[in-house]
Amino acid sequence: MKISIKPILSIFLVCILLNSCDSNPKDKIIKRPPNVILIYMDDMGYGDLSLNGHPTIQTPNIDQLASDGQKWSNFYTASSVCSPSRGALLTGRYPIRIGLGAEKKRVFFPESIGGLPSSEITIAEMLKNNGYQTGIVGKWHLGHLPEYLPMNQGFDYYYGIPYSNDMDAINWSLKTLLGKPDINMWQVPLMENEKIIEKPANQFTITKRYTEKAIEFIDKNKDKPFFLYLPHSMVHTPLFASETFQNTSPRGLFGDVMNEVDWSVGQIINKLEKLGLDKNTLVIFSSDNGPWLMMQEHGGSSGLLTDGKGTTWEGGMRVPGIFYMPGTIQPGTITDIGATLDILPTIAAFTNSKVPSDRIMDGYDLSPVLKKKEVSPRNHFIYYRKQEIYAVRKGDYKAHYITETSYQKDNQKKILETPLLFNLNHDPSEKYNHATEHPEILKELKGLVENHKKNVVALPSEMDKYPEIK
Ligand code: MG
Repeated sequence: MKISIKPILSIFLVCILLNSCDSNPKDKIIKRPPNVILIYMDDMGYGDLSLNGHPTIQTPNIDQLASDGQKWSNFYTASSVCSPSRGALLTGRYPIRIGLGAEKKRVFFPESIGGLPSSEITIAEMLKNNGYQTGIVGKWHLGHLPEYLPMNQGFDYYYGIPYSNDMDAINWSLKTLLGKPDINMWQVPLMENEKIIEKPANQFTITKRYTEKAIEFIDKNKDKPFFLYLPHSMVHTPLFASETFQNTSPRGLFGDVMNEVDWSVGQIINKLEKLGLDKNTLVIFSSDNGPWLMMQEHGGSSGLLTDGKGTTWEGGMRVPGIFYMPGTIQPGTITDIGATLDILPTIAAFTNSKVPSDRIMDGYDLSPVLKKKEVSPRNHFIYYRKQEIYAVRKGDYKAHYITETSYQKDNQKKILETPLLFNLNHDPSEKYNHATEHPEILKELKGLVENHKKNVVALPSEMDKYPEIK
């Protein structure tokens, strides 16, 4: 029997032209650039996840992300407080370069008139330029005047609070913060796009509603590449959990709130699976800074790390770093150094987007580690507090030049004549000083700092911009 190859050839050519002959609609979706979901916790410490050993908090959904994806155990945020941490995350640049290296105020307040400068390029802008739909659901904290809101920083959609959930306080005191949860004590607004839709925001239901809005955004954009930035307002004090989660954790209210956030992560992953998008979505989970220790039982834990939020000790700046994309990211624990500064270039590599080339970037593309478990391109990290370098790490070793605790009575700043030197891989709690044994390491670290400083121009702090008092 003679078979004509002409019809077969024609079908083959049509297939190439259409770039798809799949019968399975899921396969069609997978051929487009990956979606990105970036979940960013507020004030959740290194030790607040069950995967990092918390004895009474259970985070099964987040733990699952870490075991099916990559967990980075030496992962840093660029600042130990909210606003600069978020600015650095979204731009891949140290806060000092982007007007968020504080001089006096360390974060934006409701009276502030500054914000992340519009000249900075955010992950949202980078991805929007590459055809992505972009949304933020959660806490912004990079300027709340119209010109600084998310819609002017590359986001198509915004639902959330413009600054921290303890601001616009009727009576800001530890007693109120640690007392019976009462939404009326915090007049923080809830916004949708550029409008205030609720004031005060009902914080009891905020995590639940963020989750619903995030899922709505995913549903709405399921047929095109999307970027969803989900910076939760929790577990920043004052703590609130919705009714379903109240009194569910042996850790108390903090644990209830963690249960709800963990549930939220599970809902998002379920949604991706249902839509067949899970293998084509890069999910990143981290926290803006360490635990707010002055909040006592309402604050988190940095586990075996020293100190917390506001400081350049490990507990202030080392945060969980989890990357998940089944089939693409090689599961495992990475002990190499990484930072939230690396998230922009890493997303750029996954999505084939263009990293800004007209400015100094501080991040590295971690995709070779995520995809092939290669050595991390980052071998050092610089710890800023406001505009000063307090410490530096290269490889195993960290030198402290200045130490200062935070939010405590004795938080006086100490400029050290001889730096402290810790081997962080042997001694993550920073207890055993090796400065006298290793002058050569101190010299190398000093050289690294000097070189870094040569390329840094500090912009005036946006967070110190306030209306003139007449
Ligand atoms: Mg924070």
